[in-house]
Amino acid sequence: MKVRVGAESDIGRARERNEDAMLVDAPMYAVADGMGGHQAGDVASALALETLERLVPGGEVPLAEAVREANGAVFERSTSDRAVAGMGTTLTAVVVEGRRLRLAHVGDSRAYLFRDGALHLLTEDHTLVNRMVREGKLSEEEARVHPQRSILTRALGVEPDVSVDEGVVDANDGDRILLCTDGLTGMVGEEPIRTVLAEVRDPQRAAERLVAEANRAGGLDNITVVILDLGIEPGDEAEVRTTRTTATASEPAATHPGSAEAPAADRRPPEEEERVEFGPSSRAGRPRWVRLTIAVGLPLLFLASVLVGIKLFVDRQWYVGIHEGNVAVFRGIPTEIAGFDLHSLEEESDIDAAEAERLQFWRGRLAEGITVASREEAEQVLERIRADLAAAATEPGAGGGGTGS
Ligand code: MG
Repeated sequence: MKVRVGAESDIGRARERNEDAMLVDAPMYAVADGMGGHQAGDVASALALETLERLVPGGEVPLAEAVREANGAVFERSTSDRAVAGMGTTLTAVVVEGRRLRLAHVGDSRAYLFRDGALHLLTEDHTLVNRMVREGKLSEEEARVHPQRSILTRALGVEPDVSVDEGVVDANDGDRILLCTDGLTGMVGEEPIRTVLAEVRDPQRAAERLVAEANRAGGLDNITVVILDLGIEPGDEAEVRTTRTTATASEPAATHPGSAEAPAADRRPPEEEERVEFGPSSRAGRPRWVRLTIAVGLPLLFLASVLVGIKLFVDRQWYVGIHEGNVAVFRGIPTEIAGFDLHSLEEESDIDAAEAERLQFWRGRLAEGITVASREEAEQVLERIRADLAAAATEPGAGGGGTGS
């Protein structure tokens, strides 16, 4: 397939750094939107794309598998390097195989198909607000400007394993693919995006125009746009590789790429990754106290350094959970290892957890713990729950069982 590419990444008008990254390396194209303090976001998005670039070109590694590898690379770095602890990234990637496109996606960057003048969203945002849109609690327009729109329910590199959405598009001649970060879609609606794609024929100029539109609307975030113009050539059918065996079957064009979660077998509980291995044991021929120091001291030192590493990581994590029947904000992660709690209570709210769990949206989530990026986001989740409870109280029957009034 003949692919003409336009690509543009811009810092925007409000941020101090550009934490987005993009990859244009035929047959592979991707965008990533990094997050984390200081330079961690840059590291996460760049590391994810480097891993992808290294794994995919030969074709031996299926795209979704490569994305999971990238997740592992970012997670590994995040847990081993204090400077970038807690970082993560979105990733939306396309590989061209003959006239077929394979997609893999995690987070709230997006892939669109522009065909015959219409714009089709190929990916699903892994965000709290999108979940609310799907449940009919927010409109698309409300979601686009919602203060909590950046809270992700899935991202690359924040857990040892990740569930990856996969999809397939059989391309038509003249199709246009748009990959973009939320710095575009958060600032510019789908109709203006569609108009630019319809009016600007040159892909590079179209990419620049979209970035300019986002900046004109405020440019509150980094903006990254990759446009692929697809031209079918004779022999494209034969190029479809059969060696790649992704789990997802072909889907008709312009449908959601596998929005279902990955098979359970693909996920491991975090505990397995965090098992502590002990160091070398004692050697004969040394005085007894030396042997004891080596046998006991080294493993203890090792264990201590692992625990300090875990603590440094954990201290940068936040979640909203339940404490003594009330919704509460915790620092840490909602689990324990070898009897050590990996969280501490920061704030207990006056929200009754049982009341909140009666609302369909929050059911089960609080008990599990809702992971957020910061204390402020935790506060936003509390506000959200308060608002949902207030709304449920005024419309009995909403949210799967109102409280009455
Ligand atoms: Mg962004």
